[in-house]
Amino acid sequence: MRGERFIASLHDGRSVWLEGEQVHHVPEHAAFKGTLNTIKALFNMLDDPHERDKVGFLVPDKGQYAHSSFLVPYTPLELAKRSRSFAYWSAETHGMMSRLSDYARSLITAWYAARRELTVLDPHFADKITAYYEEARDRDLFLTTAIIDPQIDRSSGLDDGRISERFLHVVRETSEGIVVRGAKMIATGAPYTHDFVIFSFLQFQSRHRKHAHVLIVPANSPGLHIVCRESFADTRELNHPLSSRYDEMDAVLFFDDVLIPWERVLLYGDPEKVLSLRANKTANGLAFHQNVVRFVAKLEFITGVAFAVAEAIGVQGFLHIQEKLGELITQMDVIKALVIASEAKAVPDEAGVLVPDLQLIETARSLGTKYYPRAVEILQQVGAGGFVQTPSGIEDFYGPISELMHRYFEGASVSAEKKVELFKLAWDLIGSPLGARHQLYERFYAGDPIRGLANHYNRFDKESLTAPIWKLLKANSKGGIKTI
Ligand SMILES: Cc1cc2nc3c(=O)[nH]c(=O)nc-3n(C[C@H](O)[C@H](O)[C@H](O)COP(=O)(O)OP(=O)(O)OC[C@H]3O[C@@H](n4cnc5c(N)ncnc54)[C@H](O)[C@@H]3O)c2cc1C
Repeated sequence: MRGERFIASLHDGRSVWLEGEQVHHVPEHAAFKGTLNTIKALFNMLDDPHERDKVGFLVPDKGQYAHSSFLVPYTPLELAKRSRSFAYWSAETHGMMSRLSDYARSLITAWYAARRELTVLDPHFADKITAYYEEARDRDLFLTTAIIDPQIDRSSGLDDGRISERFLHVVRETSEGIVVRGAKMIATGAPYTHDFVIFSFLQFQSRHRKHAHVLIVPANSPGLHIVCRESFADTRELNHPLSSRYDEMDAVLFFDDVLIPWERVLLYGDPEKVLSLRANKTANGLAFHQNVVRFVAKLEFITGVAFAVAEAIGVQGFLHIQEKLGELITQMDVIKALVIASEAKAVPDEAGVLVPDLQLIETARSLGTKYYPRAVEILQQVGAGGFVQTPSGIEDFYGPISELMHRYFEGASVSAEKKVELFKLAWDLIGSPLGARHQLYERFYAGDPIRGLANHYNRFDKESLTAPIWKLLKANSKGGIKTI
């Protein structure tokens, strides 16, 4: 089964650091075990005859299934298949696991699909990406991205030696490849990924060619250190139903002179070309599409929890609660509608790949940065002090004060025990360290939301909206528009 193969493959000599110690057996460590069990079950769906068509496709000429994130969509049916597969894994994990590698795999799939067009960037691009795409697809490689450069001094740039020596850069070229040094700020899923897809979000000048690259880096590369944040995993499943299953570890990457073989150097040395690959619409359209399909599941989940909490304590009849729960429904429906519209408005790129409408997807991603924190705020307002009224564990329901527990924790429509379980789930979603991380994630995973919206404006065809205004003014005024 692929899930078991995935777990076994993580014993590969990678250098993972947690709480000052090197983790030699990632799958057995309490910080990763619950999350890896979840991923194992998802991967195994591809070997289950009842599930595999929901998440995968039969690879032509191979006779085996691959995840649909590797499917190049040329028809509306194929695009719908991708969407349904993203939705299926997302529903299984309640939208809480955003880096199951289907996002990074979609980038690779799109670069592969657009390889002929992208060969203008490098004559070897098509061969390299084809070989890697096929390997990743056929070996079920788990992938994640590491894009953002370390947060040292955002007011300074690469002309400052302090910054340039810390941002990932090439220190020498050899016949085998390039040797890189520096760090990347966050890679979610890093301790258990197979490979990192690495590039920078920044727009470099031509003099910064050593910093301009697009790389595929194996997690067990000698010299690469994966430095984890504090674990939010909690093995007490009943108290922390989410933290025990879904803690996607974030980690900083240190590259201490890591050799990247030439076949994994997709681009290097030309900032313009790197920018052009980063801005590729096919790649962004297919990958960001996964982001918003996943987000629908998360909004459905938090909305469901809010409804259940309201019913459990009998506040669902109050007007202001109904207004807030109604707001959650509109948030959910807006994102769902944007997903449907982005798919309905998909157009083929030059290679015939059907790409969802990127502007609508960007709109959904931008709204998400506000919708999720708002959903958390609403859930807090609905449940109020109930989130801290819960006992430390549910063991008391079976101890000497059992009868009192059943009496005083009773809900309006549910038993005391169910109510406590529900509020623990809700607290894990909005109040635990995992919950706090999720709010931060939804605010920032798509990049800085402020600059994201500004870019939305900068890229927009403004004249399509201003031309009718000038035309109206021209029609109304005697002298017409004064041109300067
Ligand atoms: C939980 C989590 C998981 C993540 N996972 C990944 C991952 O797997 N892979 C990955 O590559 N990245 C990941 N990220 C990083 C994410 O992409 C960044 O957090 C995001 O792009 C914002 O960048 P930053 O955090 O460096 O913020 P900064 O750029 O340091 O911004 C800090 C503040 O300063 C402001 N600011 C900074 N510079 C400017 C400027 N020039 N102009 C105006 N305002 C400015 C910003 O608006 C913001 O308010 C993750 C982030 C989080 C929170």
